[in-house]
Amino acid sequence: MNASLLVVRNEISDTCGPTDGGRYDFSDACSLCGTGALRIDPICLRSELLEDRVCSTLLFEIVIPRRLVPALKAVAPRCVRDVLDVTTREPTGSGELIPELYLPPWSPSTLGIIRSKQLPPCVRCDRDGHYNTIKMEPALVYDIPLPKFKVAGTYERFGRSGLRPDIKKSKFSPPLLMVDDSVREVLMNEEGVSFQPVRFSG
Ligand SMILES: [Zn+2]
Repeated sequence: MNASLLVVRNEISDTCGPTDGGRYDFSDACSLCGTGALRIDPICLRSELLEDRVCSTLLFEIVIPRRLVPALKAVAPRCVRDVLDVTTREPTGSGELIPELYLPPWSPSTLGIIRSKQLPPCVRCDRDGHYNTIKMEPALVYDIPLPKFKVAGTYERFGRSGLRPDIKKSKFSPPLLMVDDSVREVLMNEEGVSFQPVRFSG
């Protein structure tokens, strides 16, 4: 098995996050910023914005078009969840790609990720506040043997989180996603989708 970082260049100008009142599991979340809060419910998006191609929302929620959902559910049934319409709360036919596990922190040898002095990470968890750089694609390295998964998320989260008393106004920064060969095969010829190798050792 190999693991590949999933890179999606198509973007839809919508996002769900906690805005729809969906439930989150906070058992692995930072008590100060909320990073690590795990979405339990399906996400809700505006149906009219969904496209017939793999897209990322502005919050890096990866949306799979209806056409690819059966093939993905066949190889990774735990990693595809219905996307609901934000108004009707009915399934749209599109799916969201979700990790079945999160990896431990990556190795210091990882390249292509930056931190920002202007937008520093949370002082308590130091888990959010990672950013991509235009100079290169991320080259993720792990000092552990490759675990078995279909879709995995990074421990590190991108952008900054903010936990508010009203959960709907919070922002939980997203992970990067990596996929195994079977998921990669379903997505590999899709426009705007590319992959970067992820190195495991140990
Ligand atoms: Zn935090």
